[in-house]
Order: sequence, then C-alpha cells, then structure tokens
Amino acid sequence: RAATLARQDVRYQLHAYTNAVQHQGIGPCIMDRGHGIHVYDTGGKEYIEGMSGLWSVAVGFSEPRLAQVAYEQMQRLPFYHTFSHKSNVPSIELAEKLIGLTGGRMAQAFFTNSGSEANDTIVKMVWYYNNALGRPDKKKIIARQRGYHGVTVASASLTGLAGNHRSFDLPLPRILHTRCPHWYREGLPGETEAAFAERLAAELEALILAEGPETVAAFIGEPVMGAGGVVVPPEAYWPKMQAVCRKYDVLVIADEVITGFGRTGRMFASELYGIEPDFMTLSKQLTSSYQPLAAVLMNERVASVITRHSGELGTFGHGYTASGHPVAAAVALENIRIIEERGLVDNAAAAGAVLQRRLRELGDHPLVGEVRGVGLIAAVELVADKAGRAPFDPPGRAGAQVVRRAQDNGLILRGIQDSVAFCPPLIITEAQVETLADRFARSLEEEAARLP
Ligand code: PLP
Repeated sequence: RAATLARQDVRYQLHAYTNAVQHQGIGPCIMDRGHGIHVYDTGGKEYIEGMSGLWSVAVGFSEPRLAQVAYEQMQRLPFYHTFSHKSNVPSIELAEKLIGLTGGRMAQAFFTNSGSEANDTIVKMVWYYNNALGRPDKKKIIARQRGYHGVTVASASLTGLAGNHRSFDLPLPRILHTRCPHWYREGLPGETEAAFAERLAAELEALILAEGPETVAAFIGEPVMGAGGVVVPPEAYWPKMQAVCRKYDVLVIADEVITGFGRTGRMFASELYGIEPDFMTLSKQLTSSYQPLAAVLMNERVASVITRHSGELGTFGHGYTASGHPVAAAVALENIRIIEERGLVDNAAAAGAVLQRRLRELGDHPLVGEVRGVGLIAAVELVADKAGRAPFDPPGRAGAQVVRRAQDNGLILRGIQDSVAFCPPLIITEAQVETLADRFARSLEEEAARLP
C-alpha cells in the first residue's frame, strides 16, 4: 500500500515546493497518524516531529479535546459567516480572547484562512488606512531580505526570498526590502551586535529618506525569522527599528505566525523584544494547525480609522467566506485553553533551555558555524570552513544531507540552505528534547564522517 500511495502521490498531486519529490526523486514521505510529538509514516516508522509539521502543531499530533470541540461545533452550527452584520459565537469569543492575550494593546481582530491571506489583508488595510487619512501617496511597505510572509501575490512580495519571487514577476511595485538582521552572516568584521543593530536602523532610515517618508507606509518583520533560517535579531534591533518607524509615521507590523502562542517562551515574541506593533499576524499555533485559521490584530489607532472611514465613505470591501469560521474558531479557543492550562509557554522556556544548551554544545563541531535560537525554535548553521564562515558549494547540500540522515534516524527537521531548523511541539518534555538532540548529533556525526 505504501508503494502504491507514493506512486499516486507523485502522479496526481502537485506538491508545494515540488523540487524534491518531483525532480530529486526524494520521498514522498507519507504520514499516516500521529501521537504526541511523534508521527508515523505509512510503513509504520516513527519520527519525532522536530518541526511541529510546519512550525505549527503546538499541542502535539493527538489532542482529543480539539477533535471533540470540532465535532461539537459541527453538530451545533457547522458554518456561519461574519460578513456585514452577521456573526457567530466562537468567532466573537476568539476575537475577545486574542485581544485579551495582548493585554489590550491590540483592539480588534480580523480572521482569514491562512497567514498569507492575513498579510495580504494587512497590505490592503495599510493602503486603506492611508487613503482614509487623505495620504494616497503613503503606500510603500518595507519588508526584509530573507523574511517570509506567505505566497499570495502581496504576501509573496513581502517575502524576501528569491525562490518565492522568481518566475512569478514579483515583488509588486511599492514593496521594498531592507537587510536581514543576521549578525553572523551580515555583520562586518569586528562589528558588535549592538553596532550591527545600529547600522541596520540607519539603513532603514536612509531607505525611508531616499524613498520619501511621505511615501512609506509600513514596516513588516517576523520578531524571529523562521523560514529565512531562524534568524534571532540582536537585542537592540527591534527597539531601534521601531524608533525609526515612529519617527517617520511608518506603521509597524509584527508577523507572529511562527512566534505567536509561546514558541519563544513568551506568549508573543513582541513582548520579548519590546515591539509595540500596529498590526500583528497570527496563525499556525493559533489552532495548532488542526484547522486552517489566521488572524490580523490591529491596534486602536488603525482600527478606529478603518471603522470610521468605512462608516463615512462606504464599506470595508474585504472578507473571506470562511473569515471567522466557527469550527476553526472553536478549535482555536480550545487550543489556547490547553496552552494556558498546561503551562506550555513556560514549558517552551524550560524545554527550550535544554534544546538551546544541547545544540550549543555542538558549537565546537568542525561543521557547525553558528547555533542560534530562543525557546523552542533554533537553527544550526553548517559551514565548509569554520574559521572563515565559508558556506558549502553548492549551498544547501550539506544541510539537506543531515536532514535526510536525521529522518533515517527518526527525526524530522528542516534544511534551510545549510541551516538545520528545529521547532518541536510545545508539549515536548525535557527528556524528549534530549532524545531529539541525541538523534541530531548522531546524524551530524554520520555526515561529518562522509565528508572529505
Ligand atoms: N508568515 C510567516 C512568518 C510564516 O512563517 C508563514 C508560513 O510559514 C506565513 C506567514 C504564511 O502562512 P500560510 O502558509 O498559512 O499562508
């Protein structure tokens, strides 16, 4: 059966990021069931899911309470929309809950089905906001190289990865990219992290001035970059970037699609870095990906303008059939309850400390250039030449090899060029982190033994 499914998968399904399955002949690796932090493929092999699927399954792969609330909500009211004056109970309760979790710093929520749609919505809201304020030229949005914000037309434009632009005629005009806060790769010789942060803020200011502050509307970033390679910014980075934005009346958007709901050991990474966003993007751990759901949170400054303008000048002409879907919202509420009841944010800090320590112990390994991370998100960057920080040629192969060996050793990780990413479920125990780290260390050794 496993072999037949693999053939049918390649024959009938176009995979996202097809290159491995369709062109390199790797896989497909077809998962059949889950239990806790583990998933099992159609051949019955067990893996620790060291990436929580796609950075998203906080409560593990077998949470019965989420199945139960979905079932009950489907029986009670399987669907109702939130267009115009219509609403449904779970979406109201979820919006209130999310605003409460921000300590009231945000004022209103708008629901979408995916992180990409949420960021597209924010792009439109930023434009709408400035139209409402009579500033039709203030529309440019600055994102970052290697940032990831999704793949729809606007969100892919915000994304700063060539693979998401190439052959798609993106990015759209009016979307710009500034430098990624990766000190190990982007820092100058002898430059401290603090000086690096200072330089990046100066570069942002120079870009705003070159474009004209009257044309720059917003700045977007992930507090900790995920898909770009788990880039943890220097401590001074966010306060300095934010100060530049405030100086030129540029809105700040924190894309917390990966970092939200405890990943870094805080409920939101904005708290960790002192970010006071005008918009927040949430998804993934919002429902532990048991249901597709994302949310845009906006603060009073933005919400009041959008509400007033749509009242005075016509509707806010935006919304999805499934915006505020009651089943997804019910699952999100129960998922957040579980995160709170079981202290999973604190667990991310405690188990995360073990993960960070174990990975940093590999820092002296000749293949390891940098270990970075915070809480339960981390990356180990492999290098061809440790002293000179030289990457492998071709880039990506060593990372992919270690990830393949880890998979053979019962551990799912993700290669991002030659960085190996870690993002296990928030329910992981400290003992399970030790097992995960042992399997990774063994995979790294096996690869080191093969390299000349
Ligand atoms: N923003 C960030 C930070 C992400 O990591 C992702 C997905 O990985 C997205 C947005 C896009 O979310 P989706 O894949 O649900 O469209």
